[in-house]
Amino acid sequence: MKQSLLFVPTLKDAPKDAEVKSHKLMARAGLIKQTAAGIYTYLPLGHRVMKKIETIVRDEHDKRECSELLMPAIQPRDLWEESGRWSEYGPELMRLKDRKDRDFCLGPTHEEVITHAVRDYINSYKKLPLALYQIQTKYRDELRPRFGLMRGREFVMKDLYTFHESDEDLNTWYEKMKVAYTDIFRRCGLETKIVSSDTGQIGGKEADEFMVMSEVGEDTISYCDQGSYAANKEFSGLSAGDKCPECEGTIKEAKGIEVGNIFKLGTKYSESMNAYFTDREGKQKPVLMGCYGIGISRTLMAAVEQHSSDNGIVWPSEITPFKVHILPLKTNDELTMEVADSIYKELSKTNEVLIDDRGERPGVKFKDADLIGIPYRIIIGKDVSEGKVEFLNRYTGEKNLVNIAEISGLI
Ligand code: ATP
Ligand code: MG
Repeated sequence: MKQSLLFVPTLKDAPKDAEVKSHKLMARAGLIKQTAAGIYTYLPLGHRVMKKIETIVRDEHDKRECSELLMPAIQPRDLWEESGRWSEYGPELMRLKDRKDRDFCLGPTHEEVITHAVRDYINSYKKLPLALYQIQTKYRDELRPRFGLMRGREFVMKDLYTFHESDEDLNTWYEKMKVAYTDIFRRCGLETKIVSSDTGQIGGKEADEFMVMSEVGEDTISYCDQGSYAANKEFSGLSAGDKCPECEGTIKEAKGIEVGNIFKLGTKYSESMNAYFTDREGKQKPVLMGCYGIGISRTLMAAVEQHSSDNGIVWPSEITPFKVHILPLKTNDELTMEVADSIYKELSKTNEVLIDDRGERPGVKFKDADLIGIPYRIIIGKDVSEGKVEFLNRYTGEKNLVNIAEISGLI
């Protein structure tokens, strides 16, 4: 791809309201552009990364026999009346009316719609289990939209809903998706801590959150300095210095970004919305449900936060928008452009390559390249007359002068 045609509007200064590093960088690197408070346009570079994350999410779901569907963003009031959430949800729910004065909302989540979609079908235990997911834009009128994609009012989520005949089967799927989530985030370059957000009450539903440990996180995690105990402080009530409830260790506190969560819903929606099936004994039972969310756009933001310095990003290999960035420094020099073009054509056969064909000064090109964060860089400078170019590996920081013929082998 030619950089001149990609539309990468890099900025010298971050927008005034950008408080955290990732938000500043995403704006400066031309990944996103704010349209309104908490509402963003994903520019071509940012959109490419989102698609990479979505590919990973789809891959890890599909191989675990989940199937993808797509539900509407606009949801009718009657379904929300059935679940009781039309009145429960409060001002975060974006409500609207059609021309006939009927009430709708913009979906913040899809338990109602999915239950409505499957309830006629799952009339027997023979139709269970079932696992359905979508990747879709969600709407929540957050009180304090902030930190760019971290807390948006419009954001992209993956939501999975599973349906079961027994607690045992729900547990099996819950554990399976826990592993899937850890794998997904690792492939996105993120190590996550699984943090219990159990209410702890008898009959309370089990839930876990996936946290990226980071100073800019909005959640506080109480975790054991010795064992595996970790819980959201909101639920554990434990503070730094307290004794661990599970072992001899001591509780520590840290900040985390919640990139995903999984939840055993039980029969909350199947009972209220009448999703019953005939079990093996011929009895009518409400179907058991699980729901599992990943903030796709928040994951993108967390990856930038974890893999960057103040001067720019270094993309994790599986989600990088391009693998190689070619920088011909003198675009008006014939030999430079000839070499740049031949390397571009050769590498493009098997890699995603971006070439900075703009007639900008070298300083501008370097600064933008640092910001954009593509891991492998080929600089075509004055040594091109001796058949050499510079090769920079941004993961290691190593920079070498290499023969043009050697380039392919290095990538
Ligand atoms: P939070 O506590 O951060 O508000 P939540 O518990 O409301 O999150 P869920 O309803 O479980 O979140 O949504 C699933 C996932 O969607 C979250 O784990 C998070 O990654 C993402 N998410 C939730 N709200 C937002 C938002 N306003 N902007 C971007 N991503 C969000
Ligand atoms: Mg929320």
